[in-house]
Amino acid sequence: MDVSREELIETALYKLFKDLDGIRNDDCKIKPLIYTSEPFLDEHLPLLETISYGMVQAFCSYLTQDIPVIAGRYEFVKEVLASEGLPTDDFGGNCGNEVIQDFASGCAAFGSVWTGIQLGSIREGSAFVEERRLTIAAHELMHNIHDQINPRGEPGLGSCRGPSNFSCAGPVWFYEGAGEFFGRAMTQYLGLQNYATFVPNDRSGYFLAGEYLSDLDFLTTRRNKAFGVENYYSGQIAMELLIANRGLLPVLEIWENLDRGLPFPEAFSDSIGLSLDSFYDIFATFHNRIYAEAGYCEGKIGCDPWTPPTALPDWYATIPEGANQNEGNPNGPSSNRLDESCVEANELWWSRCTELEYGIPDNPENGDHGYPLDYQRITKIDSCSEIELIGFNLDGWAVTFDAREKAGASRATVSTQYYAALRYLDANLDGVVCSSQAPD
Ligand SMILES: [Zn+2]
Repeated sequence: MDVSREELIETALYKLFKDLDGIRNDDCKIKPLIYTSEPFLDEHLPLLETISYGMVQAFCSYLTQDIPVIAGRYEFVKEVLASEGLPTDDFGGNCGNEVIQDFASGCAAFGSVWTGIQLGSIREGSAFVEERRLTIAAHELMHNIHDQINPRGEPGLGSCRGPSNFSCAGPVWFYEGAGEFFGRAMTQYLGLQNYATFVPNDRSGYFLAGEYLSDLDFLTTRRNKAFGVENYYSGQIAMELLIANRGLLPVLEIWENLDRGLPFPEAFSDSIGLSLDSFYDIFATFHNRIYAEAGYCEGKIGCDPWTPPTALPDWYATIPEGANQNEGNPNGPSSNRLDESCVEANELWWSRCTELEYGIPDNPENGDHGYPLDYQRITKIDSCSEIELIGFNLDGWAVTFDAREKAGASRATVSTQYYAALRYLDANLDGVVCSSQAPD
């Protein structure tokens, strides 16, 4: 408890790696079955193999089935599932819902793992690894691993799945926290990159209140307040705290207990030796302190500069439905401006200086709109009600022609650059902002 975030991470990783060395089996009979297709690069296949084989070998004694690991577009995922006769959702995929924008996604349900479309792209003629994508691949693999330990909670094939707070998958902070923690920790264990820390914000770039992020019980029931990311953030730190104090095996035992039919609170207290309520109290105290001290960020790796917010949206009272409702927030839209030095240094600023999850392509697409495309000359509005500051008769911007069609926003103007400059208004990540036909 009385440690810094950095000490917490170092302790958790030390114990994790020691425990993994004790249980790993490099002659594991269970294998990953890897399928790749464009735009996944052949140069990155050894990376995907390192992650897939490394995680299967590390958790071998907990596994019962080979793991289909698919990298490429979501259409390719569907092709593989169909041609191999593997289980699918109603749409022929493994996400459980139709995936419109596949650039920033990954899924692990129905017994197979989609690690995302690629691990990086070609930049200036050579293959470039996007480090966050390595953690996403490991995150999705971890979901398959805990689902093999507790198949009843598997989101696609399990026998007691459901939206209840204590369905037998456990609460969201638990399994998504595992995805986030092991996603980062395993890429370090396998020698690919160091465990990254960061300052948490919601998908519009706003800071989240520490008290809110510290309340795991509240997050369990109100999982979507910050577009669903808060359970990932807080769950990762909860997982660090559990493994630093108890080691890996008792945490894996929680899934074994769930598979034995224990409800989550009992599954937790039986292996951790602490009631769930006590753990939530401990976590709240600890998390409030480290958040107040330094956000989440103490190491240099992956850290943005941390400025404690002076004013915060009231996360308990209102559910933000896009950036427009946060006007007047000092940490608001102005912080969504792109980093000037990045824009200056990058001709392709729309793809190089924007967050990965927006999936903005290198090759810009523009309709015949006549508006200037330099970042500096694009009017950065704070909400869609100000769109007339850019021009009259506009009904939204779409990142590509394809995104416009998929969102059904036929009246939106296509411009990759305008979308990139205004991406913070795209709360539902459909690639379209300020369209009356596809509102956020
Ligand atoms: Zn996940």
